[in-house]
Amino acid sequence: MFDPKENPHRRFNPLTREWVLVSPHRTKRPWQGQVEELPPDEHPAFDPGCYLCPGNSRAGGAENPEYTSTFVFQNDFAALLPGRVESPPAADPLFQSEPVNGICRVICFSPRHDLTMAEMAVAEIRPVVDCWAEQSAELNATPGIAYVQIFENRGEMMGCSNPHPHCQIWASSVVPNEVAKEDQSQREYFEAHGRTLLSDYLEKEIASGERLVDVNDEFAVLVPYWAVWPFETMIVSRRPVAGVDALDDAARDGLSAILKSVTTRYDNLFRISFPYSFGFHQRPAQCPGEGWHLHGHFYPPLLRSATVRKFLVGYEMLAMPQRDITAESAAAHLREAPEIHYRHLRSQP
Ligand SMILES: [Zn+2]
Ligand SMILES: [Zn+2]
Repeated sequence: MFDPKENPHRRFNPLTREWVLVSPHRTKRPWQGQVEELPPDEHPAFDPGCYLCPGNSRAGGAENPEYTSTFVFQNDFAALLPGRVESPPAADPLFQSEPVNGICRVICFSPRHDLTMAEMAVAEIRPVVDCWAEQSAELNATPGIAYVQIFENRGEMMGCSNPHPHCQIWASSVVPNEVAKEDQSQREYFEAHGRTLLSDYLEKEIASGERLVDVNDEFAVLVPYWAVWPFETMIVSRRPVAGVDALDDAARDGLSAILKSVTTRYDNLFRISFPYSFGFHQRPAQCPGEGWHLHGHFYPPLLRSATVRKFLVGYEMLAMPQRDITAESAAAHLREAPEIHYRHLRSQP
């Protein structure tokens, strides 16, 4: 008889309509969440050489104000530029291109160079959530913008060399690939069932609890059934809100608390500042949002310890993504990870 804890199988992601191969029999070796001695990960509260710290100069010559909470500025090396450029339609279907324009901004979460979301208080994360909401509302209403992508790259392993807590917003004149896939799946599900795909999914996840990491009145965080990355998680709003800009006061508090919970658990898993890429998926700018259900994805690269990372190579580049540790087992490890950050534990008498 088929046993998902033993037998190789594939799982379906209803948001992207792609499959992931799960090979649980390969994790017969015991759990090795070992703590490895890494060089101390200490940073000063202010770094005179950091282009994000208050009062410092950026590469483009601009000077940061002495900000005290969040701070937003136009990316000095933007991947997208404002201003629409006209181009004739592609003549050859094998060589298609089209201009893309947009707006790229950076949001500093805090003036403190040495903090991360995991080490910020819930009350300090809340202004960041407010900033995301304001930026989403403004950019969604900007003519020519089709999608607002908020994302954070955390840690050198994810290609982020500056530890100052910050994220980016890329607002583009096109709906990007991942969002287009989820847009179609969610719209079709809503048309067929009259409920959002993630409302139905979340209801079942909360009932089972198997993959749930934490939940409050407004948000839940779980390891999705179809997760690809070992400790991948998804943050889902409990009410079917379509975008960050639609979150009310209570939902913003709930989101701040769930972000604090999941990032703290991540750091405590291997007692390091856990690297990840995080971002929201929300309704495209020009769409009424029917069927859209706000959620965030955390994609962390680490596998078994602070230094063993997962690579998507070989079979995964050529065939399909694959994982060994099951989503259920990853969720259990995150659920059991302490809710108090290890650095704060260490500093207690
Ligand atoms: Zn800094
Ligand atoms: Zn998504």
